[in-house]
Amino acid sequence: MKTKTYKYRLYPTRKQTCSLEQTLEVCRILYNSCLVDRKNSYEKTGKGLSRIRQQEILKTDKERVDALSYVHSQVLQDVLFRVDRAFQAFFRRVKAGEKLGYPRYKSEGRYDSITYPQQPGFQLTEQGLKLSKIGTVKIRLHRVIQGNIKTCTVRRDGGKWYACFSVEYETDKKSIPSKAIGIDVGIKSFAVLSTGEVIENPKYLHKSENKLKKKQRVLSRRKKGSSNRKKARKVVAKLHCKIRNQRSDFHHKVSRKLVNTFGFIAAEDLNILGMVKNHHLAKSISDAGWGQFLRYLEYKAEEAGIQFEKVAPHRTSINCSFCGERVPKTLADRIHVCLFCGTVLDRDHNAAINILDRAGTARINAWGDKLCGRPLPTGNLRSTLSLNQEAPSVRAG
Ligand SMILES: [Zn+2]
Repeated sequence: MKTKTYKYRLYPTRKQTCSLEQTLEVCRILYNSCLVDRKNSYEKTGKGLSRIRQQEILKTDKERVDALSYVHSQVLQDVLFRVDRAFQAFFRRVKAGEKLGYPRYKSEGRYDSITYPQQPGFQLTEQGLKLSKIGTVKIRLHRVIQGNIKTCTVRRDGGKWYACFSVEYETDKKSIPSKAIGIDVGIKSFAVLSTGEVIENPKYLHKSENKLKKKQRVLSRRKKGSSNRKKARKVVAKLHCKIRNQRSDFHHKVSRKLVNTFGFIAAEDLNILGMVKNHHLAKSISDAGWGQFLRYLEYKAEEAGIQFEKVAPHRTSINCSFCGERVPKTLADRIHVCLFCGTVLDRDHNAAINILDRAGTARINAWGDKLCGRPLPTGNLRSTLSLNQEAPSVRAG
């Protein structure tokens, strides 16, 4: 169970505002008198007053003081709880050796909230928020409450009124998936995963981009300064905006899906600027908006408690993901063919495995068995082998 607070604006009538102000004032006076009572008691007897004792005093006070009857009894009780909490905090500070911090009196206008600790002292109805002794106050429920409402605090803030509901809700303990994945930027496609799955760029994006090209040609043909040119420029600007949104939407969807499916995600830490300088890759990289995608992926992974690892991109496409030997390629070589071990893989697929392997080696201690249990054995097998090969350097003799 977790607790969350929902805050809504209240719109009390003039009469209700009066009652609320009055209630705050009664509570403020009660709060201060409780402080005085505790202080006096301590000075006289060397002992303070417990909350229970103050409750008894309140009970007799209610018979004498009319004003107390204007306020819902549980709201008054809550004031005693507040005093108690203030003192407990004070004692804690004293114990910790901190100076000062004796509970302070609330001066006029400085007491800003009252709490209804349980229903039915307050109730949300069709008509609004029903507050005992105040009436039904108009409330703007701009979002739905999910969970069990526990308490309601009515707060005055800068002349406006708010209701804050403390709500208990079940935490949906989503188990983190145990599968690990490496992702590589695709050159033809959007991305390739270490499982071999290819994520294509969406067709609608392609369509919009073709349309943009056409409209840009139209724009370049229009005479400078003409109204037609102005119109064409507007059309182009609108298309640019549309493409940005479509791309962002696509990046959100893909990153969400990956975060929901995998518990460990590895990607290249691309120096995007460095890559855009390379003319062969320039278009595909900037078009794919890889940097934006990685940002989305990173924060979504963090929110979900999933490990996201960025690795150095050097030689991920050259090294063989199975045996680790170097297999040099040009950008035109689409297939990785290793003459050392016979591995044949799509070039980006091979790179994606290398990326996962590199991140896995770095994090293998943190991740332990989970990573070893990943579906693709190749990269991990290799790192285990190479670790064993290096081991004999501590020579026995
Ligand atoms: Zn190989």
